Amino acid sequence: MLPEDKLALFRVAQWTLDNKRKLVKTVRELAGTEENYLIVIREIDRVEAQLRRARFLHAEATLTLVDWLTTLEYFRWLCAYCEAKPFQVMSHFTLLPRGGTTPDNCVPACYSCGRYRKTENVRVQEYLDSVKCRLESTQLLKND
Ligand SMILES: [Zn+2]
Repeated sequence: MLPEDKLALFRVAQWTLDNKRKLVKTVRELAGTEENYLIVIREIDRVEAQLRRARFLHAEATLTLVDWLTTLEYFRWLCAYCEAKPFQVMSHFTLLPRGGTTPDNCVPACYSCGRYRKTENVRVQEYLDSVKCRLESTQLLKND
């Protein structure tokens, strides 16, 4: 993916943080190209579906599109577990409802890795720990 395409996706994601109503027209404009638009719409739907699932199970539901795109970028849009196949599903590292749909519990996975959960994956664990740390320090700053 080109840097300007990545930028466009994050622009849309940032905009969705401030605007609850996701107007198709604005998303399309911010996305720039039709390809970006299709990618971003797909990820908006994915995040929202997983947030709904979490809420339904009375789990934490705090993942934003910005969080999710940041994670996708980190794993280069590949499966976080095998690091070989393109990602196909959002995997909850700790099962819902315990883990929640949160920035420190969701990673991209291919179908087979998503099905056979590899919870002892060190790289994924380290990434999620670093996200958790970042979230906690942001929270501390807010409370000051
Ligand atoms: Zn995989």
